[in-house]
Amino acid sequence: MFECAIVGGGIHGTYVCQRLLEDTTLERDEVLVVDPHERLLESFRRKARACEMDELRSTFVHHVGTEPFGLESFAEGRGRTDELLPTPGYPQRPTLSLFLDYADYVIEGNDLDSLHRQASVDAICRTEHGDGLVLETTAADGAGSSEAIRTRNCVLAIGHGGRYRKPAWADGVDSITHVWDGFDPETPAEETIVVGGGITAAQLATCLAEREREAVTLCSRHELETATSEADPRWINWNHIENHLHRQPAGSQDRYEIVRTARNDATVPQTLLERLESAVDDGPLSIRYGDVRSARDVDGQMRLLLETGGCLSADRVVLATGFAPVFEHPFVDRVADELDLERGYRGMPVLDDETLAWSRTDGGESSLFVTGVLAAGTIGPFAGNIAGARRAADRLTDAIAASDRLPLAAD
Ligand SMILES: Cc1cc2nc3c(=O)[nH]c(=O)nc-3n(C[C@H](O)[C@H](O)[C@H](O)COP(=O)(O)OP(=O)(O)OC[C@H]3O[C@@H](n4cnc5c(N)ncnc54)[C@H](O)[C@@H]3O)c2cc1C
Repeated sequence: MFECAIVGGGIHGTYVCQRLLEDTTLERDEVLVVDPHERLLESFRRKARACEMDELRSTFVHHVGTEPFGLESFAEGRGRTDELLPTPGYPQRPTLSLFLDYADYVIEGNDLDSLHRQASVDAICRTEHGDGLVLETTAADGAGSSEAIRTRNCVLAIGHGGRYRKPAWADGVDSITHVWDGFDPETPAEETIVVGGGITAAQLATCLAEREREAVTLCSRHELETATSEADPRWINWNHIENHLHRQPAGSQDRYEIVRTARNDATVPQTLLERLESAVDDGPLSIRYGDVRSARDVDGQMRLLLETGGCLSADRVVLATGFAPVFEHPFVDRVADELDLERGYRGMPVLDDETLAWSRTDGGESSLFVTGVLAAGTIGPFAGNIAGARRAADRLTDAIAASDRLPLAAD
């Protein structure tokens, strides 16, 4: 039996894995990361590639390593400090290539790939004696073989769980793709419509337009708004989180609304907006504001009808409309039902604020811990971001270390 299995090998899963190895007495053969991709962080790499992201929105201290200034030292040691980009009124931000090269350095340096099992977890249930959990997995080996992995503790680090928000008007029009669901920016097109009003839409529209071979229309339902980071940086501070979030009951609507209001969702950093505006001035990019009412594919030409009555037409339509809500994810539903875990407003997991253990409906604590956007009710608006990984690991690592090798009470 493993001491801790981590479901998800993205930024959070990879980070938590290191913290468990560094901060607890767990040995390497007692920790496992289960993720269906061929390598750790692959899901993040693919999304970044699909929207042609070239720099991080977050600062150089937010990365996959456990040393806050590790990425900066890495850049200095390799003569790459020019990839730490100045940002007015904000610390420097790394280029994507520096961020990923440092991530590879961390993963290789700690041989984390050897702890990765390439499979997806379909369900989690209790062991027959109640002394741990069983992860039902399907291997990503093409044969789809299944395996049951036994573990005393488990950390859910599934990010948004790979489900993307697709507006109702796009239903049934197969040729409309979501940017993170099969879109390849290298596929040439003469005209593209990018639907969305946040950083991903702005990034993709700008990069496609800068190639000077295609006309791009960015279709946003609202005026583009600027914000440097995903929320006020004070939300990174644990005291601030305790004072402003934890005084509301765990799982409550109040917590949900505090997080929602604090997030700068659907905003664009000023530097990107300036690039976008010069692409508009230069001609290849135009912006249309309005809600889409309906979409049609007419002989390979996409037509979007706007609520205002206007019409847009192009070779292809790409959605940059974000993720489907993870609190309502079918996998999360299955796990919560099977393990009798408590849900709050809109399905939000009810976590112990001190340990990030998901509370059971009978009031007891489970050995299932949560990090990433699924832990937003405890970690706050940066839960799903890179900064949230450190905040979450600070809590759950201690809790897993404390439970290390203690006999678990049978249910
Ligand atoms: C293009 C882009 C740019 C971004 N830029 C920034 C930025 O600059 N700064 C910042 O802080 N944040 C940024 N973000 C947010 C970013 O996604 C998060 O910071 C980070 O990826 C979240 O990490 P995660 O591990 O929670 O999720 P992910 O990186 O999505 O990883 C989750 C992993 O879990 C796996 N998984 C899901 N379900 C299962 C299952 N049932 N079984 C096994 N494995 C499973 C998935 O396959 C995936 O590999 C950006 C996001 C995108 C898409």
